[in-house]
Amino acid sequence: MKRVAVIGAGPAGLTAALELCRQGCDVDLYEASPHVGGMARSFDLWGVPVDLGPHRFFTRDPRINHFWLELAGDDFEMVHRLTRIHYRGRFYDYPLRASNALRNLGWGEAMRCGGSYLKQKALGVFPGTGPGNFEEWVVSAFGRRLYELFFRDYSEKLWGIPCRDLDIDFAAQRIQRFSLGRALLAAFGWERDRHKTLTGTFAHPLRGAGIIYERMAERILAGGGRIHRNTPVTRIARSGKGVVLPDGTAHDCDHLVSTMPLTQLCRCLPGLPEAVIGSLDRLRYRNTLLVYLRVAHDDLFPDQWVYVQTPELRLGRITNFRNWPSGKHDPSGSSILALEYWCDPAGDLWTCSDPALIALGEGELALTGLLRGAQVLDGHVVRLPSCYPVYRKGYRQWLQPIVDFLRRDYPAIHAIGRYGAFKYNNQDHSILMGLLAAENITTGASHDLWAINTDYGVYQEGPAPSVTPTR
Ligand SMILES: Cc1cc2nc3c(=O)[nH]c(=O)nc-3n(C[C@H](O)[C@H](O)[C@H](O)COP(=O)(O)OP(=O)(O)OC[C@H]3O[C@@H](n4cnc5c(N)ncnc54)[C@H](O)[C@@H]3O)c2cc1C
Repeated sequence: MKRVAVIGAGPAGLTAALELCRQGCDVDLYEASPHVGGMARSFDLWGVPVDLGPHRFFTRDPRINHFWLELAGDDFEMVHRLTRIHYRGRFYDYPLRASNALRNLGWGEAMRCGGSYLKQKALGVFPGTGPGNFEEWVVSAFGRRLYELFFRDYSEKLWGIPCRDLDIDFAAQRIQRFSLGRALLAAFGWERDRHKTLTGTFAHPLRGAGIIYERMAERILAGGGRIHRNTPVTRIARSGKGVVLPDGTAHDCDHLVSTMPLTQLCRCLPGLPEAVIGSLDRLRYRNTLLVYLRVAHDDLFPDQWVYVQTPELRLGRITNFRNWPSGKHDPSGSSILALEYWCDPAGDLWTCSDPALIALGEGELALTGLLRGAQVLDGHVVRLPSCYPVYRKGYRQWLQPIVDFLRRDYPAIHAIGRYGAFKYNNQDHSILMGLLAAENITTGASHDLWAINTDYGVYQEGPAPSVTPTR
């Protein structure tokens, strides 16, 4: 019987642990917090199940679809996605549609956008052909004016660095290509607007995204696995085959699956080469602050979430749980909103007190106009450290020495997950990594877990997923 230690009870760690239990391994799962589900957990707030920001589920992979459905049973709904950009008091469709943009921007601004797009096309620089940073990619795809209006400020709020320092990977994976020419033809009715087909649907459990992970935990326990909550792993055995817990006790294993932040994992290991030490300081994560507000209004706006583009506001995204299956039956007549702020670990926001953050959130929500004069009844703050691996330009050159080092010196360690593998994962990617790590361990398969790529997400919508959860 193989003994496996798993660090972290998020989607990646839980999936690996569950599959390993199913294949007869002896599994210990160590989780730093009291919860399971990681960033995808849910919790009850003012009587309503809420997620940590928006957590839609969809996948194009039939294996993940099957795995997720088996856990969800009938307890989910398909949601027709409505998520728009909010910019200086107006809503813009996403993906951008010319008719809607024209109406909102006015002819003058629309002509400037069209002119800068045409100028870009005349220059003949196309996405992916230039020197390669996020700004250049988006400008070559959309023109400078649209980039300035709809991409620059949101991305800089999210990542905390200028767009020219962001890697092209982020754009290539996450942004839907767009043809302004086609969009304009569609606006005048001369061509069907293909973007209409890209809105898509996603699945959401009736008791929140996290119920899937609670069910995984139940099955791990039923399958003989052990889950140690409130147990952060701070040291790893010199061989990489075991963990040392904060109380000093050592626990050996044959394989170690780690979903803790990759840089933190490396810092627990002895014998780091110079190249790895140099990389650790360069790979950075961004934190998220979630400010939940309960608002005395049951119909503020119909979107599941809204991207807040307005540069004067620090606020980046607003989730409205009233428009999710888990929140729509809230009998209280109020709505729960989650306001997202992104910051660096040493940033001023991260060290703000909860009451100050709630006051900031309330003030900024009022400035968007989305509060519609309603009263804010209550507030609550959740802090998510390290949740965005920053794809700073050239980050792969810093990641590679770590990958090489772990492959060469620690073959028993399987580093997976969002911050665990420094990949901008959604749930489905982390589930896939967990499934494949378990397969590598139990069958001797040699899936290259570092090669699993994220190819859709925040801004990338299409084509509409071919495999959404279907019974
Ligand atoms: C605001 C937000 C919105 C998102 N929206 C979506 C969405 O719409 N759709 C979607 O599919 N995905 C979404 N995601 C991404 C999704 O939450 C993640 O991809 C997923 O949770 C990653 O799973 P993971 O297991 O890799 O990592 P995590 O969920 O981060 O789990 C890692 C676990 O490891 C634990 N841990 C860390 N260090 C240690 C240690 N030293 N010892 C023991 N335990 C440790 C942590 O406490 C945590 O429980 C969103 C994420 C955020 C932050």
